Amino acid sequence: MKRETERFPAREFQRDLLDWFARERRDLPWRKDRDPYKVWVSEVMLQQTRVETVVPYFEKFIEQFPTLEALAEADEDEVLKAWEGLGYYSRVRNLHAAVKEVKEHYGGKVPDNPDEFSKLKGVGPYTVGAVLSLAYGVPEPAVDGNVMRVLSRLFLVTDDIAKPSTRKRFEQIVREIMAYENPGAFNEALIELGALVCTPRRPSCLLCPVQAYCRAFAEGVAEELPVKTKKTAVKQVPLAVAVLADHEGRILIRKRNSTGLLANLWEFPSCETGGEGGKEKLEQMFREQYGLQTELSEPIASFDHVFSHLVWQLAVFPGRLIYSGPIEEPLRLVPEDEIEAYAFPVSHQRIWREYKEHAGEARRLH
Ligand code: SF4
Repeated sequence: MKRETERFPAREFQRDLLDWFARERRDLPWRKDRDPYKVWVSEVMLQQTRVETVVPYFEKFIEQFPTLEALAEADEDEVLKAWEGLGYYSRVRNLHAAVKEVKEHYGGKVPDNPDEFSKLKGVGPYTVGAVLSLAYGVPEPAVDGNVMRVLSRLFLVTDDIAKPSTRKRFEQIVREIMAYENPGAFNEALIELGALVCTPRRPSCLLCPVQAYCRAFAEGVAEELPVKTKKTAVKQVPLAVAVLADHEGRILIRKRNSTGLLANLWEFPSCETGGEGGKEKLEQMFREQYGLQTELSEPIASFDHVFSHLVWQLAVFPGRLIYSGPIEEPLRLVPEDEIEAYAFPVSHQRIWREYKEHAGEARRLH
């Protein structure tokens, strides 16, 4: 391995980075105390999600589940509801399973040992580094995509950051330049630098506290780094969705499978259409899969919902459930004013809003 850090003035770099961090660090709710449970929750929320989005969710989540025990003892439905809208729900399912294990096997104390902590569900190398360094001062690197971007530029590393081996290389660099007397602040300062200064596009190099150490800046190539191979094309999936009311005005919802995308969340029943005949496909699905007769109107809304790897092209059909018994799991009939007590993915929350907006019109149509 090439020794990028040879002759790198680590002490001076640490001083300049940490001085800047002490002056500029944002006042975020999870920085108020270093309770390992709260640090863990914040790190899980911050994966794939912007800080501004996370702040209100974090505050609400901690109010609802103030301790690790409270979360461990909560029902999954309640936990999913608290996460509703944040997306990437496997994060919270894993967190829930992991805190239960901490309660059972570690007496409710988050392990401070990287080997034990990393065995818990959903805890990858970044989470290990972030939680253990911030909460316990354990000198483990916390290298995510943002930190890789900063380090690619500082050390002019042109390896593809989409490859797992590249993260290992950056972890090694962090071990060589880390401030061992304060690993938590060091990791957090690098993360903060990536968020505020060394941003993906148009990094603020002229205001950067560590510009003097930056090889990409010296070579004028900061914006060309990091190197990252493009993802494969996203798949487009046309889906027809039915919002059906029965004769009492109750709405038909369905629980998603316990594995896979958006597992265990609730939704309005839908089916893939292959691009045409949404109404017919839905009617056929209700008939053949659930033995239900339906009467659907024309679509009231259509929009795309983008995931990282696929796009749902949704068309929303309001309608009536003609035959309404027996309704069995995974289906459920729910009074309209109780719908919002269930955890729905963001796309289905929007479907519900569209339905309510068009409710008068939808009822006139059938
Ligand atoms: Fe990033 Fe520019 Fe600072 Fe280098 S000088 S670390 S590229 S912001």
